[in-house]
Amino acid sequence: MTPNSKNPKKRTAEDNVSFDAVIVGAGFAGMYMLHCLRGMGLSARVYEAGGGVGGTWYWNQYPGARCDVESMQYSYSFSEELDQEWSWSEKYSPQPEILAYANHVADRFNLRKNILFDTQVTTATFDEHKKRWHIETNRGDQVNAQFCIMAVGCLSAANTPPFDGISDFQGPIYHTGEWPHDGVNLEGLHVGVIGTGSSAIQCIPIISRQASSLTVFQRTPNYSVPAWNEVMEPEYEQAVKADYPALRAKARARPAGFYFPFNMQSALDATPEERKHQYEKRWESGGLPFLGAYGDLLFEKAANDTIAEFAREKIRNIVKDPITAELLCPDNVFGCKRLCVDSGYFETYNQDHVTLVDVSKNPIERFTNQGIVADGVEYPLDAIVCATGFAAMTGAFDKIRITGRDGLTLTEKWQAGPRTYLGLSSVGFPNLFMITGPGSPSVLASMIQAIEQHVDWMADCIGHMRDVGAETIEPMSQYEDDWVEHVNEVSKVSLRSTCSSWYVGANIPGRPRVFMPYIGGFPIYVDKCNEVMTKGFEGFLLDKVVGTEVPPKIRRTERWRMALDIDVISPATIAARRVPII
Ligand code: FAD
Ligand code: NAP
Repeated sequence: MTPNSKNPKKRTAEDNVSFDAVIVGAGFAGMYMLHCLRGMGLSARVYEAGGGVGGTWYWNQYPGARCDVESMQYSYSFSEELDQEWSWSEKYSPQPEILAYANHVADRFNLRKNILFDTQVTTATFDEHKKRWHIETNRGDQVNAQFCIMAVGCLSAANTPPFDGISDFQGPIYHTGEWPHDGVNLEGLHVGVIGTGSSAIQCIPIISRQASSLTVFQRTPNYSVPAWNEVMEPEYEQAVKADYPALRAKARARPAGFYFPFNMQSALDATPEERKHQYEKRWESGGLPFLGAYGDLLFEKAANDTIAEFAREKIRNIVKDPITAELLCPDNVFGCKRLCVDSGYFETYNQDHVTLVDVSKNPIERFTNQGIVADGVEYPLDAIVCATGFAAMTGAFDKIRITGRDGLTLTEKWQAGPRTYLGLSSVGFPNLFMITGPGSPSVLASMIQAIEQHVDWMADCIGHMRDVGAETIEPMSQYEDDWVEHVNEVSKVSLRSTCSSWYVGANIPGRPRVFMPYIGGFPIYVDKCNEVMTKGFEGFLLDKVVGTEVPPKIRRTERWRMALDIDVISPATIAARRVPII
């Protein structure tokens, strides 16, 4: 279902055209990859399923969508001019503004001329004889390229659960991740929202203002911290712009790839009064930095219990009806699932026309022609919003038939969980790169930073291959196995691995339970990528290269060789379990 690609522009299919690289996706990842490759003189074609650039911010046009990383940090850092010329109007940017920014970047760097929109890549097959990828699309394109670069997004494959009777429902059903661009009028309607993740928590307060009644179906309650969003302070903006590189450098040196003050002390070393003071102070400034209150919150259950109880008390204080308040109180690890950031979410339930339905013990039974049945009760509805999330990390890969060496598909290879070397590439799939692939920090970092670091690394890698005349690059099995094991081992250190989140694929029945992103921290990961590069792409096999006599030129990656003295979290600190990771 692509409701926003109803009338794709007519065009002739590309037949037997050759490119240096095909890039799949024109979100922030695909756009920057295109910019870099073009800058290196390579020919590249981008295919994008949507009708415009922006990826997440193109698709997720639901009411209330905005970022949860501060605007001044949720943007590209590769161009100082771009940093200086763009202005954000709010502390946390709303979706339309981020989309406008993506469009501005596309225009400013003249990217559109190499992007074909409304075009879904359906297959990518490696031709071992020609050492090229053969790529096909749903518009009949058949092209080939030396490199195939997946910029398909970690949260781009919307998940609409196969509810019984879904096709019986007479009214419209919307998914937050595929929200119609021509607007949705929910004014005066009886609306049902399924889900209480970040998307739901953002749209529920706004939908409640439009609907005549709102029924929220909750399977698992979520923790959420107020955003306290506000207009951008001109002084703050000017101060950041006066030395943007300094903020960027500090952000890169942080475990989550964005900067905020955090406290390395243990919550358990503080007195109850000190903790309360610390939590109150952080609650008052709001947002994800709340989780930076102490260093051990995601490592020590006893420490986590203190912040979890503080957050539950906040819910009980905000929500007037005690039964509803208890239903909204999560009992799992605080921050285990992605922490939500809201504007008036819990307050919404104080309105008479808003009802919370608990479907934790008895799942939604079915959709009927006029509503949803849960626990034997039919809730009459005019429209249903599925805020039911995504087949995260691997879902967009599964939608493409990607065939590598020996006819093996990526989906087959990843049946028991994704296997990559550094989240960049996978054995058996030469010259296939993944931007923010599973096994890299990706969704555990501020994503534009994670994207830029990957793209810069890939650009330097491709540059090196050209320097030495290599046709293919592919990781070696032993290195991939070691990395997969390391990703798993590190995840066990964090309490994040303990709950049924989309990080472990548990939001969708039947998916293997594997912690997919790399949780060791962004700087540690970047350091590892740099080391692999400086050691002549250690762990990778480059064909046609005898020995390692040509040292790789560090070009774009240079800016990721961070000054390790800026606030960086050392491996020893990680080992000591004192790292607030968002
Ligand atoms: P995407 O933006 O997902 O773009 C991938 C593109 O690939 C899509 O346009 C898709 O249509 C296209 N595509 C996929 N498969 C194919 C195919 N087969 N053929 C053709 N095209 C294809 N991250 C943060 O760091 N901070 C935030 O505050 C934040 N907020 C978010 C809010 C929402 C609602 C969501 C869903 C995610 C959020 N994220 C956030 C994560 C966000 O996805 C990233 O920040 C970033 O936008 C990802 O960019 P991308 O280019 O990697 O992927
Ligand atoms: P999500 O976090 O996976 O939430 C999906 C919700 O739907 C969950 O509450 C889930 O319940 C529920 N659900 C799924 N299937 C269900 C079923 N069959 N019956 C009942 N309930 C069901 O998805 P999301 O809210 O779209 O967010 C995904 C990620 O995108 C976020 O974690 C974040 O990284 C990013 N995001 C960020 C922002 C932001 O603030 N900037 C906003 C939106 C999204 P369970 O918990 O029980 O599975």
